Amino acid sequence: MDFSISDHIICNKYIKFDSNYQLIFIFFLTMLKKRKTVLIYTRCKEYKEVFHINDNILFCNYYNVSVEWKYKSIVENYCKSQKHILNVKNLKERQNNI
Ligand SMILES: [Zn+2]
Repeated sequence: MDFSISDHIICNKYIKFDSNYQLIFIFFLTMLKKRKTVLIYTRCKEYKEVFHINDNILFCNYYNVSVEWKYKSIVENYCKSQKHILNVKNLKERQNNI
């Protein structure tokens, strides 16, 4: 009886350790995957018709300004910026006039 209880505790401890280890492993695996998938091309695809790539630099189609593509927040903030929105608006107006 005593023996089986201690056995059970050991087993529980082992399972806990194992699940923690798996979690850490999955965490690192997703980190690696994320690092691999965030390429300039994937970023460009995320914002279709907004950017193009030239010499591994992300450029805005509306203003020909380079944007740091490694951080999604920077790209998002750029797209929300007054300067960009105004340029998109101006270009669309010009296209409508033609
Ligand atoms: Zn722009």
